[in-house]
This record gives sequence, C-alpha cells and structure tokens, in this order.
Amino acid sequence: MKRMFNLILFGPPGSGKGTQSEKLMARYGLKHLSTGDLLRYEISRQTALGKEAQNFMDKGQLVPDEVVIGMISSALDENPDAKGFLFDGFPRTSAQAKALDELLKLKKAPIAAMLALDVSEEELVKRLVKRGETSGRSDDNNEQVIRARIVEYHNKTAVVADYYKQFNKVVMVKGEGTIDDIFKRLCKEIDKRI
Ligand code: AMP
Repeated sequence: MKRMFNLILFGPPGSGKGTQSEKLMARYGLKHLSTGDLLRYEISRQTALGKEAQNFMDKGQLVPDEVVIGMISSALDENPDAKGFLFDGFPRTSAQAKALDELLKLKKAPIAAMLALDVSEEELVKRLVKRGETSGRSDDNNEQVIRARIVEYHNKTAVVADYYKQFNKVVMVKGEGTIDDIFKRLCKEIDKRI
C-alpha cells in the first residue's frame, strides 16, 4: 500500500459498524475514526463540546455538522502518519460528506470506497435493544430513542450513499449472518481495492 487508503463504513445504527471496524483496523492497520466514540469521550470528560453534543445524542438526534466536522478535522491533523483512515459513523449528512472530501483533497487521499452494511430494520432494533443491556450507552436503552436514531438515519444519513454513488464508490455488503461471515465479505471487497 503506497498511498493513504481511506474507507467509510456505512450503515444504520446497529448495522455492526463498530464491531467490524475493530476487526478491520486490526487487519489493515487503518486508523479508526468513530465520531460516536469521539463524542462519548468528550461527554465522559464533560467538555463544553461534550455537553452540547449530549443534548442531541440523548434524543437520538444528530449533533450539528460543524461540531463533528471540526472533530474529524482535528483527528486528521493529529494523525499525519496514518496509513489510512476508517471512518465509522461519519459522514452522516451530505454537508459532512462534502466537508470530508475537501479535507481529504488537502491530503491528496480520497475515499477509496464506502462499504455499506445492509441490515433489515427488524434486526437493527433487536440488536440495539440487546446491546443496550450491556453497552452502558443510554441511547441504546430506550426503544423510543433507538427509533428516533433510525428515523434520523432515513431522513438525513441515507442520502450520503447517493452522494458517493455518483462517484461509483458505494459497495453494498450484506450485514446479516455471523460476525466472521460479514467480516469476510468486507475483506473481499477491500482486497479488490487496496
Ligand atoms: P454512533 O456511536 O455512531 O451510533 O453515534 C451515537 C450518536 O452520536 C448519534 O445518535 C448522534 O447523536 C451522534 N453522532 C455520531 N456521529 C455523528 C455524526 N457524524 N454526525 C452527527 N451526529 C453524530
């Protein structure tokens, strides 16, 4: 791998982005950037940014674009030697997708592909409710908040796939089955492109 290799792992809440990111990061040595994790870290430290974000997250709503774009911009700057980035949970709006393109243009390292995990809605809710039993995440603990997150996904995030479709970058991957089966499907697609 000569140039920086950047991937987006895409899909609705509960589609397995976090789980698969851990495995992909280990296999390909990419730097994992999850805006959800970064926001939860800000909340745990009770920073001003964290407090602002929490109001949205508690309701299952997206945090304002400028907040997450600023966070990603700093994370890119903090990792100048990364072999590549694995974006998880970002971009979630068209404005974020455009901002990411601009940031990566500066690094001359565009997105190689968006891997989109496809999971039925019924399975998503089932997984999120189950995750809520152990994740300690308040937004997984309340079915109303879970539904709100899925609504946000359909209203604001699903269009992000259309943005990358115009550049032929979207690869749909079946997100149901065992964790290892899904991982193998993702690796197969990445190996074709890396
Ligand atoms: P996640 O861990 O990706 O499921 O994100 C948890 C919550 O953090 C979401 O429901 C949003 O409130 C917020 N969040 C995470 N990533 C973003 C993003 N890229 N844009 C806006 N809000 C985000």
